[in-house]
Amino acid sequence: MQCPFCSDNDTRVIDSRLAGEGDSVRRRRECVACKERFTTFETAELNLPRVIKSDGVREPFWEEKLSAGFLRALEKRPVKSEDIDAAMSRIKKRLLSLGEREVPSMKIGELVMDELQDLDHVAYVRFASVYKSFEDVNAFREVIDALEKDGKNEQLTLTAVVGKK
Ligand SMILES: [Zn+2]
Repeated sequence: MQCPFCSDNDTRVIDSRLAGEGDSVRRRRECVACKERFTTFETAELNLPRVIKSDGVREPFWEEKLSAGFLRALEKRPVKSEDIDAAMSRIKKRLLSLGEREVPSMKIGELVMDELQDLDHVAYVRFASVYKSFEDVNAFREVIDALEKDGKNEQLTLTAVVGKK
């Protein structure tokens, strides 16, 4: 690996450890010529499927969009950043494990809903209300009823949900 400081080709690894969730390797390297040290990250190259939008348009998987969707739904909610990151990486793993080259955006929405259901119920209903548009009031009611049946809606009130829109 070429040294970023002096471009010498001779660098050696002085430390190597797992990073992220164990899916990447962080290496500390030292240039033999100029003795500068730098860090490299190594990850497996995996391609996430392209997204098929509801109008049939295909677009590359945008991690930023997924992240923005989570953050919007979880705005001012008591959820740790680590938990959001973990949820995002579970979604990406599930997408990769599908082995599909293209995935409908609906499918991604469902994966996000699965994660939000465990993370935070207010965020879940916020996201669901956008994702499903809730053109049908009954659909909205069904989500609330389903949560109530689960007995998990301690903090969920309609005002909390509607008030944030
Ligand atoms: Zn160097």
